[in-house]
Amino acid sequence: MPKIIELEQHVADLIAAGEVVQRPASVVKELIENSIDSGANIISIEIASGGMTYIRVTDNGCGIAAEDAKTAFLRHATSKLQDAEGLAAIGTLGFRGEALAAIAAVSRIELMTRESGADEGISLTLEAGEVLDMSPAGCPEGTTIIVRDLFFNTPARLKFAKSDRAEGSSISSVVLRAALSRPDISFRFIKDGKTEYHTPGDSRVESCIYNLLGREVEAGFLDAESYDEAVSVRGFVSSPDTARGNRSYQFFFVNGRVIRSLLLQSALEQAYKNNIQIGKFPSCVLYIKIKPSDVDVNVHPAKTEVKFVSDKQVFDCVYYAALGALEDSRLGNNDQAFGNRANEDRAKTETDMRAEHSDRRDADDNYSFKAMHAEDFRKVHVAEPSNIYKSSMDAAQMTFPQAFSTFENKETAGDESVSLYAAASPFRVIGEALNVYIIVEFQEAVWFIDKHAAHERLHFDALRSGNYEPMSESLITPVICYLGHEDASTLIENAAFLEVMGFTIESFGSESVAVRHIPADIDIGDTESVLSDICVQLKQSGAAEPAERDNIFKTIACKAAIKAGRSSGRQELEALAARVMSGEVSQCPHGRPVAFEISKSTLDKGFGRI
Ligand code: ADP
Ligand code: MG
Repeated sequence: MPKIIELEQHVADLIAAGEVVQRPASVVKELIENSIDSGANIISIEIASGGMTYIRVTDNGCGIAAEDAKTAFLRHATSKLQDAEGLAAIGTLGFRGEALAAIAAVSRIELMTRESGADEGISLTLEAGEVLDMSPAGCPEGTTIIVRDLFFNTPARLKFAKSDRAEGSSISSVVLRAALSRPDISFRFIKDGKTEYHTPGDSRVESCIYNLLGREVEAGFLDAESYDEAVSVRGFVSSPDTARGNRSYQFFFVNGRVIRSLLLQSALEQAYKNNIQIGKFPSCVLYIKIKPSDVDVNVHPAKTEVKFVSDKQVFDCVYYAALGALEDSRLGNNDQAFGNRANEDRAKTETDMRAEHSDRRDADDNYSFKAMHAEDFRKVHVAEPSNIYKSSMDAAQMTFPQAFSTFENKETAGDESVSLYAAASPFRVIGEALNVYIIVEFQEAVWFIDKHAAHERLHFDALRSGNYEPMSESLITPVICYLGHEDASTLIENAAFLEVMGFTIESFGSESVAVRHIPADIDIGDTESVLSDICVQLKQSGAAEPAERDNIFKTIACKAAIKAGRSSGRQELEALAARVMSGEVSQCPHGRPVAFEISKSTLDKGFGRI
């Protein structure tokens, strides 16, 4: 065994940096959090080449005193936490004192800062965590940090960087979330010289939503509010008819922090149960306030997850806030909310819109949220929230249906069922049950084939092998898909890749795309939801790597496959059964089996014959 030694400081810093700074977006997130914590009300963010070569964050906050500037870059150096007790009541976004040290360890930094009230500021230059220069500088109050050449000294990490486009869009989404989290701060985001977002910082959630997510999204929102003894929720949820094909517009903020949470997502979606088409998701911008001691923010290095002392209390509050908004809109009480404006004249200019907002604000300062006490709701609603909570969490954790597991085991054991398929003996299609399953008699067994899953797999394999003939269908009038600024630009950037799969898209304003061709197997009515699903994947990972392309192919295959629930002609059933029974496919792209058998002997046993 080699001798145990203590790591040198800069090695330890590099290791720690890996946790905090995973990609350019994490740098931007930490720098914005510092600017927010500094009390700034104007923050501007600029990036070039997906943030890999250049990130600048400027704020008009409290600045850093000359004597503290170097210390700020040391590990565990923070002005926000004095002792362990403080951690339980943390009110700032930062507290670990790690970010600046971690970022500095893997980049070249320029810091210009002037403390409020100070005569002059200072400028500090660092490279790989070492201070190269510190000198007085004339600069405005507040702080500017420029981070260049991220990961220049960690080639391994550089290799993992995705395309500039993918990193850039991940930064956009960080900025978008930060800006939504603080309507009282004016954010400007400039990407490769172009302003992508600008919020006014007028403290109104509506202005933020309007500027960041677009006019149509804002128009489809209903106001929502609920409170309990210890939790309050306020914000907006989407009306059921404006549901989206994905969850990318579900935003939850807990005490001002952007949070990802299965719990909150289930609480929201539960409220829409039976009210929304399958495969569609509600959007929301919800601000949850909870006593700092009832929530643990220190469970994740990037601080994007939290633990609640009482999950159920928070779940209920979100659930009732959404349910209340939906009830109100159903009863027509939500006239003041944006939701009912959805059908109004869409041609209003931005100025009209802003004027309208301020009029309404003046007319009724309390208009925006209708209080809905969770307790009141409990009285009128039979559904017992704790059961809802339980069942929806169970569903979220659900794994494979039990019935399939035998099939699966066989499959992985490498065995019999495969050879059965491969046998070339004839089979007979008996028919179709429930518009979903093809029933086939084959040798000494009855087979059930999930026609959608089988078709989906065949499509997927064709796409993946490059043998896919998209057979685009030319649309007489192009379909205009409203997707919001972020999604629309992602699609336009990937137009060439989409073209190969049969989509021809062009930009149509900054928030929509015009679709001129779609793959022949896709329903025109599904165009927007397919593109929106593809977008989620493009934003997550781009289309560069085979594994990432697979996810996009899965989406298209699923949408192009014949639908379960729609009756199919004899020919279609025969053709599909032939391909499945010849062993061409055995699992759908998501890993579920496409077919399983019930043997004659099982049937005989069931009937007491043997
Ligand atoms: P943390 O935010 O967890 O305290 P950081 O490493 O992010 O740790 O920052 C270290 C310290 O540097 C902060 O506690 C704060 O005092 C100071 N600081 C960083 N950025 C800014 C800024 N934009 N304005 C004012 N002070 C800042
Ligand atoms: Mg910080």
